[in-house]
Amino acid sequence: MRFDRKGILQVKAPVFATKWQIQSFIDKNRGWIEKQQAKKQNSILDPSKVVEYKKLAKQVIPSRVSQFAQKYGFSYNTVKITSATTRWGSCTSQKNLNFTYRLALAPQEVIDYVIVHELCHLRQMNHSSKFWDEVRAIMPEYKKQEKWLKENGASIS
Ligand SMILES: [Zn+2]
Repeated sequence: MRFDRKGILQVKAPVFATKWQIQSFIDKNRGWIEKQQAKKQNSILDPSKVVEYKKLAKQVIPSRVSQFAQKYGFSYNTVKITSATTRWGSCTSQKNLNFTYRLALAPQEVIDYVIVHELCHLRQMNHSSKFWDEVRAIMPEYKKQEKWLKENGASIS
């Protein structure tokens, strides 16, 4: 049982299952179904606006990355806007930075934090205490933004 991209419930059943069996299976899982539906409704991501979010992300993120990089002396290769659902940003060993368009729904400080986080990975490809020192030096209040991402991550995916 799962929801498709349009939010329609799909139930896979063996060919010999009767209508009654399928219905009783759905009834038994009513709690799960309602929970999933509530989750979708709480989401602030409007599927019909994905093109706009992507456009916005492309307008905002690369220029912001370049501002931070200049200010704090980071050098990177490229910035790409992705459709990643499980991560906000990533940094490759080739110094390519990726950010999900979903960040377009986050407050500016949160976008800035994700940018700073990935830039700091250019210097520290890990989450060591050295890495967090780098982040803290640029953004002393980064824990607030981390908290926002944790609390709202589900609603923008
Ligand atoms: Zn990281």
